[in-house]
Amino acid sequence: MADIFEMTKAELQEFLVANGMKKFRADQIFHYIYKQGITSWDDMVLLPKADRMKLNDVLPIYFPEIEAQQEASDGQTVKLLLRLHDGQTVETVLMMHDYGNSICVSTQVGCAVNCAFCASAKNGFVRNLTAGEMVAQLLAFRKNVTAELHSIVIMGTGEPLLNYQNVIRFMRLIHQEDTFYLGYRNMTLSTAGIVPAMYDLANEKMPITLAISLHAPNDELRRRIMPIAEQYVLRDVLKAGENYFNTTGRKVTFEYILIKDVNCTIACARQLVQLFAGKNILINAIPINDNYDVGLYRPSSAEIDMFINFLKKHGIPVTLRREMGTKIQAACGQLRIKRDK
Ligand code: SAH
Repeated sequence: MADIFEMTKAELQEFLVANGMKKFRADQIFHYIYKQGITSWDDMVLLPKADRMKLNDVLPIYFPEIEAQQEASDGQTVKLLLRLHDGQTVETVLMMHDYGNSICVSTQVGCAVNCAFCASAKNGFVRNLTAGEMVAQLLAFRKNVTAELHSIVIMGTGEPLLNYQNVIRFMRLIHQEDTFYLGYRNMTLSTAGIVPAMYDLANEKMPITLAISLHAPNDELRRRIMPIAEQYVLRDVLKAGENYFNTTGRKVTFEYILIKDVNCTIACARQLVQLFAGKNILINAIPINDNYDVGLYRPSSAEIDMFINFLKKHGIPVTLRREMGTKIQAACGQLRIKRDK
């Protein structure tokens, strides 16, 4: 079944003509959807009644229901739990930064990668999201918060490179002038390190930012917290990252979640320096949201400072991620898990 949120304007025009409607209606429809956030045929009052009836029939719109909405007390983070057509739920988060609004997009229901610190995979993998279901996550905010969009981060639930075709299609769609018109440079995709797909991505001619979830400076430790490291060793992940930089000219970011007594030590910082000295990369350190179930905790501020300062002193570019949403369980699958309990 065709999905309006997966169509380019040209594809919609073709569809309309094939179904006996006027081509220019596509302009009106795209304006309704992408400028006004209207996602029901019946509310598109400029369309002839006959067209609306026909469209309800041949191109029904399934827009997700907002099952829950949480706002952080600072008013800068809004999280939505969306209920999809088949009853599954996904989370999406709006973060209002000084430089503009950014949305964190989920790519799968559940996740198969099963990192120790992450809540997303705890109930297993359910299914891939379609490109249209990713577009709908952005539209859900256009509709309810009427947010202008500066950027997106594909860092929500799921491993985007294990849903490769749909994620690529999604990024191409929201790049189009008559949808969100988002530059590729304003899109970041985060991966646990699916090596072959990282090479494919480098050849897509889409200069997005690639973020690699590193989380440990050696294979032994990485395997302990990221089972995917059994399949793809650090050396190959780093090589695929270098290839991405060499092919696209885009600096690669390495995410490093800080876990007390596990990877937030001077020994680990020293190994990171060995891996990255002189390389044109960025390390994004993220203090973990405590995960009591598995006994992984946030380091003290002093431990975090020590780790960060060691990297800085040795010339490694590092930022400490501002934590938004800790209080509203905006991190990775926490709201969905809570609701499903
Ligand atoms: N599967 C992809 C994208 C989703 S996870 C990947 O692995 O990159 C994206 C990021 O969420 C991870 O890099 C990590 O930085 C963050 N994350 C996951 N669990 C977290 C937790 N408990 N606390 C803080 N950040 C977490």
